[in-house]
Amino acid sequence: MEEHTSNVAEEPRKRNFLEEIIENDLASGKYDSIMTRFPPEPNGYLHLGHAKSICLNFGLAQKYGGKTNLRYDDTNPVKEDVEYVDSIKEDIHWLGFQWDKELYASDYFDQLYAWAEELILRGLAYVDDQTQEEIRAGRGTVDKPGTNSPWRDRSVEENLRLFREMRDGKYADGEKVLRAKIDMAHPNMMFRDPLLYRIKHASHHRTGDKWCIYPMYDFTHGQCDSIEHITHSICTLEFDVHRPLYDWFIETLGIFPSHQYEFARLNLTYTLMSKRKLLELVQKGLVSGWDDPRMPTLCGVRRRGYTAEALRMFCDKIGVSKRDQLMDIQLLEWCVRQDLNARANRYMVVRDPVKVTLSNWEPGKVEYFDCPLNPADPDGPKRRVPFSGELYIERSDFMEEAPKKFFRLKPDGEVRLKYTYIIKCDEVIKDTEGKVVELRCSYDPSTHPQSGEWRSVKGTIHWVSVAHAKELELRLYDRLFTLADMSQVPEDKDYKDFLNPDSLIVSTGYAEPALLEDASGIAVQFERDGYFVKDPDSTPELAVFNKTTSLKDSYKPE
Ligand code: ATP
Ligand code: MG
Repeated sequence: MEEHTSNVAEEPRKRNFLEEIIENDLASGKYDSIMTRFPPEPNGYLHLGHAKSICLNFGLAQKYGGKTNLRYDDTNPVKEDVEYVDSIKEDIHWLGFQWDKELYASDYFDQLYAWAEELILRGLAYVDDQTQEEIRAGRGTVDKPGTNSPWRDRSVEENLRLFREMRDGKYADGEKVLRAKIDMAHPNMMFRDPLLYRIKHASHHRTGDKWCIYPMYDFTHGQCDSIEHITHSICTLEFDVHRPLYDWFIETLGIFPSHQYEFARLNLTYTLMSKRKLLELVQKGLVSGWDDPRMPTLCGVRRRGYTAEALRMFCDKIGVSKRDQLMDIQLLEWCVRQDLNARANRYMVVRDPVKVTLSNWEPGKVEYFDCPLNPADPDGPKRRVPFSGELYIERSDFMEEAPKKFFRLKPDGEVRLKYTYIIKCDEVIKDTEGKVVELRCSYDPSTHPQSGEWRSVKGTIHWVSVAHAKELELRLYDRLFTLADMSQVPEDKDYKDFLNPDSLIVSTGYAEPALLEDASGIAVQFERDGYFVKDPDSTPELAVFNKTTSLKDSYKPE
């Protein structure tokens, strides 16, 4: 039998607290199977924070043989849009997950309305005529109890009539609200007669003009979970103060006991993940769109060349915690490199070229080298690379006054051109300003990697044949923001003051021709340089490549 080698990456990690809860619930027979949901509000594109929530909700259900619903939390018609609904589905699929049912909170508007009437009939809800400001003032503070609304003791009949009139469009936005009648002195402010319904004369992307009253989050989320028999309703920490109210509605209505559990939201260095702010960047034209490769949106990082595999690896590595923390974006970049290093095809691209001419090369001769697409698989698929007497090398791979440790090309020095021959620099040609314009070299035919005798030199550099080179537009991306912790924007500043002016630099590259035929569908490696992915802005005349990430980084995950 084959010996099993241990691999750190494959070692099972410790169970997280949600896994512990679920395993206990299954073991105790509390549930036979689990049901989770991912509940996006369709008011923007999904971002990396949502990816964490998706991986968690879908991942837990997968692990324990349960199911996950996709439920759109679409109770605010003003900000929501079908464009977002569609993009969310695309992004979840891209991440590699499939939901059980596609549902909408708006599917339950009739049921929610019926429950509101039920609370009115039971004396547990009333119509309040106070303005938003009066309501806010009446809530009191953590140390000070609130005061009862003058409309709090309306009769059941009057409340029912007014609520129906609200529904029937008799009142303007803000004129009345429906509130639960709980306790204006409750130590948990959430219980001080929370709002259940507000008036909004707005068309809804699904229910059209059927409704002009819309339920509030707290009166919606738990009941939707309950209707769908969600066993573990997982949300971010800021909702922990809502949990008692979530439970109160479920208990009061006597419906399926869904439970809410909170985890810390994902925050990343140099990154903002608020849909409101991301929308502002798009609307102000500060980025090219939701899918600008600098955006933390899933469509943005996808266009940047990040893979779903890398994102899932990242979400798994960061785990789930009960404490808010700022994760290092370098860990995500490390995951991207890990995945692409294993899978990306390799090509040679010269970005800042200097010309090399081979004096002893037969004029006009072209030799082809079959080079592996991935060095990890030397016998695997190949690409054909043309070699000729006129080549481009990277300007930085030549140095006239080179220090001892410089193992690339220097006057009278030798270097191997990757996959091919060793060349020697015989003469340096400069223009009138002293800039190097050509390196006259000679190649050593006896160093052909297949047929020649093996001779090694210290340096190996990449190159492209001038006559065969394909010009590329390169978009070199850097972080969108200059501040590591974007939650620490000072009071007197705006987050937009921290936009990195150099987050996009457009330049040129010269590629070996096979690059343009790459059909892998993922980012490729420009050898010795970085990972790049073809951008949809490419035309038949000009291919555009986005820089995904550099090849190496000193960063090491713990
Ligand atoms: P934003 O504040 O960016 O607008 P949101 O919380 O309003 O985000 P929703 O569409 O309501 O966005 O979120 C859908 C799900 O994704 C929720 O369960 C939410 O808790 C979760 N989620 C949102 N942002 C993050 C994050 N940064 N980390 C982890 N989960 C998140
Ligand atoms: Mg939200």
